[in-house]
Amino acid sequence: MLDSIAIHSTRFTELEADYIKKDVVAVFTPTIFDLVKQKIDYVSKYVISEILVGFYLTAYVVAMKEKKQRKFHIDCEFTESSLAAIHCSCCNMECDGMPCGHIFYVLNILRAEKLPKCCIDSRWTMGAKSAFPCIQKQAART
Ligand SMILES: [Zn+2]
Repeated sequence: MLDSIAIHSTRFTELEADYIKKDVVAVFTPTIFDLVKQKIDYVSKYVISEILVGFYLTAYVVAMKEKKQRKFHIDCEFTESSLAAIHCSCCNMECDGMPCGHIFYVLNILRAEKLPKCCIDSRWTMGAKSAFPCIQKQAART
């Protein structure tokens, strides 16, 4: 059973996402980092509309400030007190292998300093660079 919690949206405004950027820059190749950074920069465009708290799972409902009817559900799984997995209803991670701005928004709220493993596609990491010397630019999604 999930309980709904009232949110004071002003609490989550002006998010900088600086701490996660330090981890992201170390994880992804420079080309992918440029794409991921754009998604991190989107965090200021979102607001929390609802948080549903369960025992192992917390669901954040995130909306765009400009289009509040457009909502995304971000599910966070916790083991003990740490974030084990995060999933967004936009499925950007599953399609592009890169976390979406909604995920970064929630990671910022959680003050996460590291990307959860589920948000790291090994294709785009520094470790994969030697295996794939020529990384093609991904077409921007509209
Ligand atoms: Zn998303």
